Amino acid sequence: SGSYSSHSNRPIHSKVGRVPVGIGRRRMRIVVTGGAGFVGSHLVDKLIGRGDEVIVIDNFFTGRKENVAHLFGNPRFELIRHDVVEPILLEVDQIYHLACPASPVHYKYNPVKTIKTNVMGTLNMLGLAKRIGARFLLTSTSEVYGDPLQHPQKETYWGNVNPIGERSCYDEGKRTAETLTMDYHRGAGVEVRIARIFNTYGPRMCLDDGRVVSNFVAQAIRQQPMTVYGDGKQTRSFQYVSDLVDGLVALMEGEHIGPFNLGNPGEFTMLELAEVVKETIDPSATIEYKPNTADDPQMRKPDISKAKELLNWEPKISLRDGLPLMVSDFRNRILNEDESKGA
Ligand code: NAD
Ligand code: UDP
Ligand code: UDP
Repeated sequence: SGSYSSHSNRPIHSKVGRVPVGIGRRRMRIVVTGGAGFVGSHLVDKLIGRGDEVIVIDNFFTGRKENVAHLFGNPRFELIRHDVVEPILLEVDQIYHLACPASPVHYKYNPVKTIKTNVMGTLNMLGLAKRIGARFLLTSTSEVYGDPLQHPQKETYWGNVNPIGERSCYDEGKRTAETLTMDYHRGAGVEVRIARIFNTYGPRMCLDDGRVVSNFVAQAIRQQPMTVYGDGKQTRSFQYVSDLVDGLVALMEGEHIGPFNLGNPGEFTMLELAEVVKETIDPSATIEYKPNTADDPQMRKPDISKAKELLNWEPKISLRDGLPLMVSDFRNRILNEDESKGA
């Protein structure tokens, strides 16, 4: 395969050549694929904040330059417009592989592209990790459990997934990405980590991404009814983004491959979520029922005992504490939208 696009001519970091960043640790160069997205941009902030060099690879399908614009002047930050479905040559110490649309509306928009991103994108990043000896972390998802028959879900559960449904491009794609990750580990000795992320919310989520938290928050701010799909009795467990980022870094830096569930076990029905949003944003907010989507998981809640024990990690921010932290960001962006429409 001789068709790499090379974006970095600098030599690979030798252990002796690295710049010290505080006691006992050398500065690392780290790739974050999908780093212009919601979770990725918060992760990048944390890595830059602790003194590392970060290269973001993103094709801006769902990510936005604004999410990382505050880093543009920083000499330790680099942004590459690139699709992970294509190979790439880089020299780095760690790879956080997040590139993949995460909201059902986005990943169903072009399902074949979603599969290519999950399979070819992950393959390319694993090939890269193998060539340069970098440690690789995959952000998988609670969707690998499908519509789970075990509750709460432990990492040992193999899942209940429809292989031919509308969500399959995402959940089967991620299952294949996990398989590839383990095969590169077993077959090529690549150092790997797997996170299974449960529903996460916070500032910088796309306003229009169709996920339930962003929908309800934006609807309440715009004084539109909150759209509850189905009977609203299905459950999810919502994690604030900074808790997730702490978990991802603990996983990357730790000794264990995983997979690890990273989520907040606080479980809510969609009707309960609507109630919390109403209390947080607008006591006069109303709800409106809409038909549910196909294959919607009825309930989802992580068992996080493995991450607690082996990563010494657990989420700190409850839904009631976390929701207000995204409201001002949403208000500002909705206001700007209205102004640019001339409203
Ligand atoms: P997001 O859509 O905000 O971010 C994904 C980023 O990947 C975007 O910046 C997008 O432009 C980029 N991207 C997509 N396809 C790409 C491609 N082919 N090449 C290069 N870049 C590409 O989503 P997010 O919520 O930040 O999710 C990040 C990761 O975490 C995803 O892998 C997702 O599956 C996983 N995850 C997220 C959640 C959640 O609740 N947010 C839950 C489970 C798993
Ligand atoms: N790859 C890449 N960057 C690299 C090394 C590999 O993008 O630095 C891609 C490569 O193009 C291939 C994939 O990763 O599509 C898997 O690479 P590997 O070497 O494991 O397999 P092979 O190239 O032998 O199929
Ligand atoms: N949902 C809802 N109203 C919305 C968007 C979603 O009631 O406006 C429901 C959806 O049917 C699902 C749950 O909220 O049961 C979580 O959906 P989301 O798309 O946020 O994430 P995922 O299904 O991937 O967990």
